[in-house]
Amino acid sequence: MQITEIYRSLQGESTYAGLPCVFVRLTGCNLRCSWCDSEYAFYGGHKMTSDEVMDEVWRLSPSAGLVEITGGEPMLQERELVPLMQRLLNGGYTVMLETSGERPLARVPREVIKIVDVKCPNSGEPDTFHYENLEALGPRDEVKFVLSDRVDYEFARDFVVRHGLTRRVNAVLFSPAFEKNARGARDASHCLLDPQELSGWMLSDNVPARLGLQIHKFIWDPAKKAV
Ligand code: SF4
Repeated sequence: MQITEIYRSLQGESTYAGLPCVFVRLTGCNLRCSWCDSEYAFYGGHKMTSDEVMDEVWRLSPSAGLVEITGGEPMLQERELVPLMQRLLNGGYTVMLETSGERPLARVPREVIKIVDVKCPNSGEPDTFHYENLEALGPRDEVKFVLSDRVDYEFARDFVVRHGLTRRVNAVLFSPAFEKNARGARDASHCLLDPQELSGWMLSDNVPARLGLQIHKFIWDPAKKAV
């Protein structure tokens, strides 16, 4: 499969935020989100066999632990990725899959924790979520909405209620979008939507969602890759 990078860092998002994690970033994406911070994964990368990926994950984290498959859009390489995820699970790893949910997720092994990033109106890629994937969601999974303004927030709020998300998944995450080319200050000034404002809306509407900040942007320079 085509791989951009494999590295070990701290998980920056989801309910697993803060835990050590090996990231396997697959090359290629079929979407172009306006705030995407992973454009370097759209092209290039290098071919690796499943054995080579397993060896590298093992080298970085020999005592099992957390592995996130990310991209790009990993499910574009579904044919090779599904067996790889199963091998990682068999090897004792906890496997997370970060995906937009634009591709069908029915073949993802049940034990994989899916983090599904449903695109909001101002992402530049609205209406890309594959609605049949709602049936593929389970109690380990999490659904994330990256929000850049009130329109995005209302879309996410209504989506959660309309599709009964809190009954389907472990967590619903509302995360302020981050400036694409941010660098320097490691604070909320780079958020396209002020987390304080978002918090106020969530409290006012009593939204059954968890505020999520990308903690890696607050630990390292926001421009730094592979963290
Ligand atoms: S789906 Fe992810 S990798 Fe692809 S453009 Fe959107 S944010 Fe970037």
